[in-house]
Amino acid sequence: VLMKPILEPKTDNLVRPPADPDQYDRANATMLVLVRNRELGQVVRTIKQIEKKFNSKFHYPYVFLNEKPFTDKFMSGIKAVVSGTAYFEHIDAADWEQPDWIDVKKQNQDMRQLDSENVGYAKQVSYHNMCRYYSLGFYNHPRLRQFKYYWRFEPGTDYYCDLNYDVFKFMELNNKTYGFVIALYDVEQSVRTLWPRTLEYLAANPAALHPNGAYDFLLENQQNPHKTKEANGYSTCHFWSNFEIADMDFYRSKPYSDWVSYLDSTGGFYYERWGDAPVHSVGVGLFEDRDKIHWFRDIGYKHQPYTLCSNCPTCSKCKTAEFTYDHLKDQNCLANWWKYEMSESQRNIY
Ligand code: GDP
Ligand code: MN
Repeated sequence: VLMKPILEPKTDNLVRPPADPDQYDRANATMLVLVRNRELGQVVRTIKQIEKKFNSKFHYPYVFLNEKPFTDKFMSGIKAVVSGTAYFEHIDAADWEQPDWIDVKKQNQDMRQLDSENVGYAKQVSYHNMCRYYSLGFYNHPRLRQFKYYWRFEPGTDYYCDLNYDVFKFMELNNKTYGFVIALYDVEQSVRTLWPRTLEYLAANPAALHPNGAYDFLLENQQNPHKTKEANGYSTCHFWSNFEIADMDFYRSKPYSDWVSYLDSTGGFYYERWGDAPVHSVGVGLFEDRDKIHWFRDIGYKHQPYTLCSNCPTCSKCKTAEFTYDHLKDQNCLANWWKYEMSESQRNIY
């Protein structure tokens, strides 16, 4: 399946906005990045690519988030490379730091244990804060409240393909909630109780479940190479959220926001090392219609150590840096998305 180059997101019933943005009202959308001052060089490198391939045609704004004040050097460095308004925004300590009811003794013990199991960033509290903020905080930041869609990016990532259409307007016109490129299995030990806690939530709130959810993608399945079953029923397959385009109104809606508050109340962002990627994926997979999740096969993307690039004609790099499409090598679980959640017609039209 899907061995041929895929040049555009041609699936049966999807529509494209007109090429000329003067012919329609742009979507209510922003580029979004959480970033540290010291990452200026890396973030500029990525923004230059995003501008060249996409935003120089559409001029969407950017929101820069930081729990520390941005320096003048950072802000002037950014202003030199963006073609839309740049908003430099502070994250309040109350929204960023771990809640004071977290049992620090338990946290330290649990993180020593996870660290000994080689769970990345286990002992780095700022990383836990970051994952929690991207799971439940950012979409209620006063600046982000004015926007519906965001495209999350990270410093140091690469965007290889020309995007000659407005991807935000595409989300709006096709009524999509969540867009991704790469899907991976997670480190099981980082999410031991994410699924059991979620089942507790669902037992108390059965109506929250969407009848057309992406259950099979989320559930432990035969494709899964994991033998240990440490994730207690969750496949750990998740949309890699360092790139994502999504509708924040979904996160703001009751099913997602209630569920994620419940998760937060269990302390799992600090007693375990839940990433925002599995949290977004489980949330979207359970509480949204799976047909509103879009695989952007036309966005050539790299975040170390993985690249997914669909051989776009404008990109020579893609020819050498392809993430295999058709098997489950390593952490790759994209094939589960095709197999379980995409309709036959969506899979075969390209
Ligand atoms: P990884 O991709 O999981 O290895 O995590 P990263 O180190 O790339 O962090 C994810 C994103 O959060 C990146 O955009 C980082 O710049 C940002 N980030 C991580 N930790 C912090 C932090 O403590 N403060 C701020 N402001 N940004 C952070
Ligand atoms: Mn990263």
